Amino acid sequence: KFVSREFQPQDSVIDIKGRKIGGGNFLMMAGPCAIENRESIFKIAKAVKDSGAQVLRGGAFKPRTSPYDFQGLGEDGLKYMREAADKYDLLVVTEVMDSNDIPLIEKYADIFQVGARNMQNFSLLKALGKSNKPVLLKRGLSATIREFLMAAEYIVAYGNENVILCERGIRTFETMTRNTVDINAIPLIKEKSHLPIIIDASHGTGRRTLVQPVTMAGIIAGADGAMVEVHENPECACSDGMQSLHFDEFDRLMKNIDKLLVFR
Ligand code: PEP
Ligand code: MN
Repeated sequence: KFVSREFQPQDSVIDIKGRKIGGGNFLMMAGPCAIENRESIFKIAKAVKDSGAQVLRGGAFKPRTSPYDFQGLGEDGLKYMREAADKYDLLVVTEVMDSNDIPLIEKYADIFQVGARNMQNFSLLKALGKSNKPVLLKRGLSATIREFLMAAEYIVAYGNENVILCERGIRTFETMTRNTVDINAIPLIKEKSHLPIIIDASHGTGRRTLVQPVTMAGIIAGADGAMVEVHENPECACSDGMQSLHFDEFDRLMKNIDKLLVFR
């Protein structure tokens, strides 16, 4: 298997316009769940940049549980996010839900995100395999580690070796949290695969107060980066406000991560 350690013993290092992830290089991806308007994404971009993030995240095509919930701004959102990212020298990661949207999203994004709900959308994975942009592949809601690695294998087997994995929690019997973060998966995947893996404690926990400790736990376990939802006014966010950090909370998290990384 292309993604296995047997195939490639040394860590993959993915270079995205000079910013690297893997092999000891740490990357922070932060931003709102969804791009909501122009002003807001500029504010958030500035805040996450000032705190030290390298990548701006934000959804323009949102995989919402209900069809009546906010579905995202589409191309307008992508434009706003690209402008904000360029102004503050950030990379852009955004979700692609449908292979028909790849050419559009490719114009604006530096990294394609495949959401948990699409981890086994094999036609999407094959299509992304034919692209040359890095892909952030999120673990499915109830995917085993083997299924997760096989999904990554699709992208690599179809020609794109720039895959970043993301542990974002799995569904368990627990109801106090949105998902249960599988910390085991991080060191285990690092044993089995050379691909970089990041921790998303925002979707992993669904609770703002748990985002900092669980992000730190993921980093101690070996994560090569993290994804964190940040919003200028989470109480009024269009989606995932309960798990989004305020600017000062994100800044504190980044300072604590700096202290942790010294020990790695
Ligand atoms: C997201 O990143 O906003 C998202 C929808 O994540 P997931 O696919 O992990 O639920
Ligand atoms: Mn979200």
